[in-house]
Amino acid sequence: MIHWSKIQPKDAADIVLPRQGIQGPVDTEGKECPWPWEPQQLGGRPLGMYHCPYCGDIVVAGVSHVDYVTERWDTTTAQWVNLVEEAERQVPDVSP
Ligand SMILES: [Zn+2]
Repeated sequence: MIHWSKIQPKDAADIVLPRQGIQGPVDTEGKECPWPWEPQQLGGRPLGMYHCPYCGDIVVAGVSHVDYVTERWDTTTAQWVNLVEEAERQVPDVSP
């Protein structure tokens, strides 16, 4: 199984998800985005956040498509939080 983020947009032109062998990003309803490579192609465009035309999720121009399996939107910092990295940062409380 290949994670979609390992595929470059130029190599994904003929790919439509879901597709066997490719793990796509999952939206808030648990569905895979049919073509998640658009946002990362739009770096430098004055778009900012917009709705992905393929799945409708909110994405950010120049940043990889959100994947609700591994990320969540933090409303206090207004940034995507990688849940894997966040879990690794959780330091156990060892105070007496
Ligand atoms: Zn999408």
